[in-house]
Amino acid sequence: MSTPHYSLFVDGKWIDTGDIYEIRSPATEELVATVAKGGVAEVDQAVAAAKAAHEEGTWRRTAPAERAALLNEVATRLGGRIDELAVLQTQENGATIRITGALHVGLSVAQIQYLASLAENYEWETSGPEIGPVPAVGIVRREPLGVVAAIVPWNIPLLTTVWKIAPALAAGNTVVLKPDEHAPLLALELAKEFEAAGLPAGVLNVITGDGDPVGAYLAGHPDVRKVAFTGSTVVGKSILRQSAQTIRRVTLELGGKGANVLLDDADLDIAVDGALFACMANNGQACEAGTRLLVPASRYDEVVSRLVERASTLRLGDPLDPATHVGPIASRVQRDRIVEYFEIAAEEGATTALGGRVPSGPQFDKGYWVEPTIFVDVTNDMRIAREEVFGPVLTVLSYDSVDEAIKIANDTNYGLSAGVWGSEERALEVARQLDAGMVWVNDWHVIHPAYPFGGYKESGLGREGGPDALDEYTEQKFISLDRSGGIENKAFAIVIDPVAS
Ligand code: NAD
Repeated sequence: MSTPHYSLFVDGKWIDTGDIYEIRSPATEELVATVAKGGVAEVDQAVAAAKAAHEEGTWRRTAPAERAALLNEVATRLGGRIDELAVLQTQENGATIRITGALHVGLSVAQIQYLASLAENYEWETSGPEIGPVPAVGIVRREPLGVVAAIVPWNIPLLTTVWKIAPALAAGNTVVLKPDEHAPLLALELAKEFEAAGLPAGVLNVITGDGDPVGAYLAGHPDVRKVAFTGSTVVGKSILRQSAQTIRRVTLELGGKGANVLLDDADLDIAVDGALFACMANNGQACEAGTRLLVPASRYDEVVSRLVERASTLRLGDPLDPATHVGPIASRVQRDRIVEYFEIAAEEGATTALGGRVPSGPQFDKGYWVEPTIFVDVTNDMRIAREEVFGPVLTVLSYDSVDEAIKIANDTNYGLSAGVWGSEERALEVARQLDAGMVWVNDWHVIHPAYPFGGYKESGLGREGGPDALDEYTEQKFISLDRSGGIENKAFAIVIDPVAS
């Protein structure tokens, strides 16, 4: 069978550039697909098409219920392809098949459906109270922003895409999407479904290209009215700086260093597995991962021994095998970064309780692998406790009092996720005191379309999903409609004497 090829999607046409990316499985290094490689010239074309589609106005003037119907049509189409797309996702970025179906594709379908229902019920135009003393009526309208640039990463590519383009399109915007150059396939499959569902040409454009210069050029394009980005904090900061030039809207979903507080009354049968799930799911490549486990000193040794025992049972291997718990690292660069952190951890005096190596054996000759790893004797000043490693690497820290645990948990530049394990009332009280956009009590990675996803501090700006998702993609316009009847009651009569009659 010949290798599938994906083109760029610009102004309703699939175009090639003469240059390609080879998308290879991070588990086997086998070729999965080729993808057209876009440059700044294609970004210019795509932004021009999106701008023209916005100005021409067909999509923004389409009734919200009809836009919602189109989104629902796309959700149905994707929903019928969950298994197939899950395999494609696993081949592309190495996330285990256990997670790509339910999380990457299933949740994306639900997210699109949720945005469709929000658009149907949104207050696009409402009248407010009468404005006195000048008799006037106030109207508040929500209008699309214009061209939205969506820039997404490789780790959870479909959901991070849908979080941006579903609200952007539901609100009547036009979009230029730049998927990550290592994992663009699901974004391109999604574009095919929008095309098949009848989205007008130019409303959605997809340019696969390098982060720098292509992503940077798109983010800085003067005709872009909003940038929605998921990725590293370093790039997020550069996008924010660029956006100052034209005061455009920005939504940022950045890194995390999730603190996971295990209280002394936690049920270890649940909390130990939960802590491993928090850290190792998606091969540890999730911004909301729980990577700092805070354990009461009185239970430290017991928890560590149970963590090691349970983590030793995690199966590392072929991500397409449903029995596999942890798959490969998405790229050589990311694998090398993680290995560097193994060295840093050793230099800083952390103890390796499990893993800490690149695995050996014939099944690991190809691809990019690290062993599920647990570092103990970690203190919160160490780089492995402060920096995002982005791999299946858990650090375990100890605390003496709950107040100290909260202090350690909040002592980070990040603030995306956190978790607490213990009796509900105590855990909830701790959850209220954690500086994080999402706190899970007695579970982790619970993501639902109706609840906001996003972080405090350097983890980001704005939220994706949740009931306010459309606010992030609309301008508010106040229209005052004069009902004074006579010239003497106009607002301007305060300053300008009425014409004598
Ligand atoms: P990245 O931020 O470099 O890439 C994310 C997206 O931004 C990709 O589409 C990329 O092409 C694009 N990009 C890169 N440089 C850009 C620029 N200057 N301007 C505009 N767009 C640009 O992330 P990465 O290199 O793939 O991973 C590096 C680290 O980032 C990871 O190790 C991890 O710590 C973090 N990360 C976080 C998330 C998350 O979900 N929060 C996702 C991926 C990576």
